[in-house]
Amino acid sequence: MTTPLGKIIADMIQSSGPMDLATYMTLCLTHPEHGYYTSQTQVFGRKGDFVTAPEISQLFGEMIGFWVADLWAQLNKPAPFILAELGGGKGTMMRDALRVLARIPGLVQGMRLCLVEISEARIAEQAAALNGYDVTWYAQLDELPNDVPIIIVNNEFFDVLPVRQVIGTAQGVDEVVVGLSQNGELQLGRVARVPSDLPLLSSPRRDDKDGEVVEFSPARDAVARAIYQRVRHQGGAMLTIDYGYDTPTGVSTIQAVQGHTRVDFLSAPGEVDLTALVDFARLKQLAVENDLQVAGPVGQGDFLLNLGITERAEKLRANASNDQVRDIRSALDRLTGADQMGSLFRVLCAYHDPAQQLHPAGFNP
Ligand code: SAH
Repeated sequence: MTTPLGKIIADMIQSSGPMDLATYMTLCLTHPEHGYYTSQTQVFGRKGDFVTAPEISQLFGEMIGFWVADLWAQLNKPAPFILAELGGGKGTMMRDALRVLARIPGLVQGMRLCLVEISEARIAEQAAALNGYDVTWYAQLDELPNDVPIIIVNNEFFDVLPVRQVIGTAQGVDEVVVGLSQNGELQLGRVARVPSDLPLLSSPRRDDKDGEVVEFSPARDAVARAIYQRVRHQGGAMLTIDYGYDTPTGVSTIQAVQGHTRVDFLSAPGEVDLTALVDFARLKQLAVENDLQVAGPVGQGDFLLNLGITERAEKLRANASNDQVRDIRSALDRLTGADQMGSLFRVLCAYHDPAQQLHPAGFNP
């Protein structure tokens, strides 16, 4: 049994041939009618399919707030400036960050809060979470104002942008594609071709192990370049936090999650969350190519500890009930523990700093 979107995809493959993985992922996540992010109403939180860091504890968003406040001060307190978030989910991280930012003299008065979000359902949730703040929503990154310094934050945003995969063979290069089995079910296959947008550095090499998968993402590259050009032109920084790696893994990192369990990513198109790990080396390389400085990547655990999350948790504990104390301890553990989100989640900051005067917080003890 497939899904309505599975049927649409099968028809597309029937008429136009096998589909690359990025086209498949894009349809699954953002098809206007059946896409996971565009159609599902309850994606986050304990009841949804997965729990993200801001949904674990207010501590996460608060630390992001401290980070933004610190960078804003280092930038000499620009007013006006833009604080932008890409893919803000339920708006929880921004709400918790703003509670911190509202206490910094002069900061929110000059701040233009801009959220880039593709999903109408998420926009409605963000509006509720940020009630009382003056927020502007944009469907696309390139619609953001470009006249003043900008601080861009995003958590688990790049991992939803689609990837493609190639595998080196004795003859050359195969691309991994979605095709149809004899009885019309979606199945993975390979087509011998070198995708035209495969970055030179991502090309499979002769010494690759047999069957080694190389992932690349024209969509992420395009978004990263657009952000970096903006930061370079307007001044400011991007802080990105995501599930990813510093050196490629050689295997497929596409994963589908439904009701907190991993499932086959071809199994229920449009009804399961699809992500792929973020290649932080690539994000860093593109920043350098755009004349930006880079801090990180470091693990989320180190980043949060360097920012003082333990001390902040102590403060919360001082006024908490026994149950709350237990929750705070377990949240701290989940956010920072090396066996939990602490090291698989990476943090990178790309910033415009020709005079080399800035020191984004959280990257050094
Ligand atoms: N940052 C949030 C949500 C992460 S899920 C958190 O940490 O909880 C990814 C978010 O990106 C969702 O809000 C989703 O609707 C949004 N999104 C997905 N594709 C997008 C796109 N192409 N442009 C803008 N937002 C997108």
